[in-house]
Amino acid sequence: MKLNNVLFILLLPALLLAVAGMFPMQQLSTLPLQEAGLAIAPEEIFAADSARIIDGIVKVGGCSGAFISENGLILTNHHCAYSAIQNHSSAAGDLLTNGFTASKRSEELPAKSYTVRIMNQYQDVSDTILSVIESAMDYGERTKAIEQISKKLIAEAEAKHPDKRAEIGEMTQGKVYYLFLYTFLKDVRLVYAPPIGIGNFGGEIDNWEWPRHTGDFALMRAYTAPDGSNASYHPDNIPYTPKHVISVEPAGTQTGDFVFIAGYPGQTYRHRSASYFQYRQELLMPKTIQWYQWLIEKMDILSTDDPETEIRLASRKKSLANVEKKYRGQQLGMERLNLIQKKQTQEKINSEKLALEYQKSYKQILSDLGEIYANERKNYEHNFILNQILRQSNLLYFGYKAFETTIERGKTDLDRETEYMDRNWELTQKRWQQRHKDLIREMDQIVMSSLIKRAWRLPSDQKIAPLEKFRKKRNAEKKLQKNLEKMVNTTRLNDYSEFEKLLEMSPEALKQVKDPFLQIAISLYPLIQKNKEADKSLKGRTDELYGKLDEMNQMAQGGAYVPDANSTLRLTYGYIEGAEPRDGIKYEAFTTVTGLLEKNSAVPPFRLPDWLIDAIHNEAENKYIHPELRKVPVCMLYSLDTTGGNSGSAVLNRYGRLVGLNFDRALEATINDFHWSPKYSRSIGVDIRYILWILSLQDESLPLLQEILEKSMN
Ligand code: ASP
Repeated sequence: MKLNNVLFILLLPALLLAVAGMFPMQQLSTLPLQEAGLAIAPEEIFAADSARIIDGIVKVGGCSGAFISENGLILTNHHCAYSAIQNHSSAAGDLLTNGFTASKRSEELPAKSYTVRIMNQYQDVSDTILSVIESAMDYGERTKAIEQISKKLIAEAEAKHPDKRAEIGEMTQGKVYYLFLYTFLKDVRLVYAPPIGIGNFGGEIDNWEWPRHTGDFALMRAYTAPDGSNASYHPDNIPYTPKHVISVEPAGTQTGDFVFIAGYPGQTYRHRSASYFQYRQELLMPKTIQWYQWLIEKMDILSTDDPETEIRLASRKKSLANVEKKYRGQQLGMERLNLIQKKQTQEKINSEKLALEYQKSYKQILSDLGEIYANERKNYEHNFILNQILRQSNLLYFGYKAFETTIERGKTDLDRETEYMDRNWELTQKRWQQRHKDLIREMDQIVMSSLIKRAWRLPSDQKIAPLEKFRKKRNAEKKLQKNLEKMVNTTRLNDYSEFEKLLEMSPEALKQVKDPFLQIAISLYPLIQKNKEADKSLKGRTDELYGKLDEMNQMAQGGAYVPDANSTLRLTYGYIEGAEPRDGIKYEAFTTVTGLLEKNSAVPPFRLPDWLIDAIHNEAENKYIHPELRKVPVCMLYSLDTTGGNSGSAVLNRYGRLVGLNFDRALEATINDFHWSPKYSRSIGVDIRYILWILSLQDESLPLLQEILEKSMN
């Protein structure tokens, strides 16, 4: 028997320890990490007072990443760097298709709206936050009071640490709040992106699937001012020196190995009620799937034979397609696992287990939540139209933002909506510039037309008055088309400098500007504000209900409470392992370059670069070959508990060395957001050996490979 097989068998009992949980740092000391296989002290992962692994872990944009060199080099996913790559692409210089390598620092490209955060400290501030709630407050006032005190605590923390960024994380809905302090870097640059035939190999067909062969990785670099302080992009800035660098492990990992991830998972819903699950499964997910499919189809039509439009729509389309397929996976999962019924049964069991004095209020909470989601269903279409018309029509969005800016920037800083506060204002404008660059007027016209027609069909008590104005007595639809065509051709919002001029005006002056999109936006403003108020009130109500529900579920179920993911730093651990998710299907833990050739075709998204095909055919003995599979491994599967936001997380071995890069989940594991199971919950990463091998094959990327390996030699 080979040594590896022996090791695997020896490790088998440990496999039983794979557990659900995206654990916040404060729970680290309670976890049996060393029993599970960790070979270093848990304090080496995180300790409040000194540089640890966590200092090498970053939140970059909405994703995670890791510092892998002393010079601020960050490894993250290709799909996380996607909008930066797209932003520097044009039909004539298509970096998305061809890839990009900065052969020297001065060639690195500013990733304008990206920021990097490194978590330094956290503190429980629940008492201070909850102390502002008074019994006479209604639910909306309660939410606003919490928002106000949160802003105040953030302002105080940032005044004390001017170079840092503070954020409040709601760890348990309505009950537990933490203040996080981050090192915050605003100059982030794109260093390397593989060609799309590697970085997004398999595209949407393979997305959320196993077996997988996507080289979903990219390199970025964080910079500071020459004196080391946080600064916006400037050519004189210098690379950031991380307090901790994550070493990569060129030998990779094996089936059965213990692995862990520290990263920034976005949002899970495991503590929500059965009525919420039902609302999502029966309404929110199918409606979103249908709408996103329709939008994607329209984008495809507009992009046909128009490479410039295709590039400008690329990022937006990719994120719609990503969510659309994830929701399909989640729907299947909910049905297959009978999740709603399971949750209802659990609620019934909990109710019976509770002491008599709690049973009545437990039932009342569940029934109140049921009523809330029934109400959400009733207003779904109305709210959906208002929400999507602003999100999907960029012209309307910019009209709205212009008006909202003049109102919000006129308030005192702590009273503003967060994106208009001084601390966020520069970033907000960068995000707008980025978004405006991708504006496609025809898409706006298509979206507006569809949503306005949907609005006409709303019941009479839910009509959206500003959209009713388009409804003519005769030939309404035809006239709408004409009207919209004229509007998209006459609006000045198509020009970013015109939009910027509006930001300097007063709300009253804006009302006089003759721009069709600006005027519709202004007429929608009170309705959207009303909806925001309603959302705040709803949040206050659900905060209270979920706060109590969680407490009683805890009483009934016992065990440790692991809060739902909320974009704050979490740790998850498990093993490199395949799965048998369905009858007759067995997933191996690794794929190899052999699968790349099997899937390769002349047609994207399965078209490999020629140089890679040659390299695979001529693959000689090299140090990245998997010792048993005798090939370079491409992707790997492991029983870690991850969700969106964990994209780009470093997969670390028992010594804290990087063996892979998380980027996805198998379709069955999309259900993780609601329920985790050791049987089918598997996450997918790119094997570090594939990343290093790809870098070693291109002359231009050899200096980067050397920069990465320098640290791992130590
Ligand atoms: N690929 C995923 C995403 O884009 C990551 C995950 O959710 O597991 O959100």
